[in-house]
Amino acid sequence: MKVVQNLVSPSKYSIKCPYSMALEFIVVHNTANDASAANEVAYMIRNNNQVSFHYAIDDKEIVQGIPENRNAWHAGDGGNGRGNRKGLSIEICYSKSGGQRFIEAEKLAAKFIAYKLKEKGWGIDRVKKHQDFSGKYCPHRTLDMGWQRFLDMVQKELSGGGNVTQDKNQPSSWAKEAWEWAKKEGLLDGTRPKDPLTREEFAVVLKRLVEKK
Ligand SMILES: [Zn+2]
Repeated sequence: MKVVQNLVSPSKYSIKCPYSMALEFIVVHNTANDASAANEVAYMIRNNNQVSFHYAIDDKEIVQGIPENRNAWHAGDGGNGRGNRKGLSIEICYSKSGGQRFIEAEKLAAKFIAYKLKEKGWGIDRVKKHQDFSGKYCPHRTLDMGWQRFLDMVQKELSGGGNVTQDKNQPSSWAKEAWEWAKKEGLLDGTRPKDPLTREEFAVVLKRLVEKK
């Protein structure tokens, strides 16, 4: 899974991520803002506030600002709080106004969280919300839309992502007969049934068809 890194300068570790960390769970946030992931991270690493987070995710990309082996200040539970000292923080962008780009950002976040859980051998119980640590109503829009719904999105990705488990080397049932025919007639070579057809491949198939007559 592609992650863009724009990591905070080590000269700012004392402000943004002073402690080394062995992370134990994931903490989900909403930005309550309408900025892109790249802009959220750029702003976070530029300012000198004791506010920080590991990843921001929008509808297009995942941007990392703090290394995973450092803590971040995001959970509002103090200098020794479990959220701040053990949590991998993920900000979902565009939650202020919501809409389609927030929907897409949540989807990408669910994918990324599932990927992280798999990477660490963790279950869905390792996914927490900011609210669990400080009582703040965050991730606000994700909570409005349903926390269990979001967990279900992550769980679906964990379990293989719905119908992506279909075999890419087998034609769909509705196409099987035609696929076998085209293969037998030598029009298609019988590989890659799910790939799109290019114009040049189409030209080759047309030529084979005409020349058979
Ligand atoms: Zn939060």
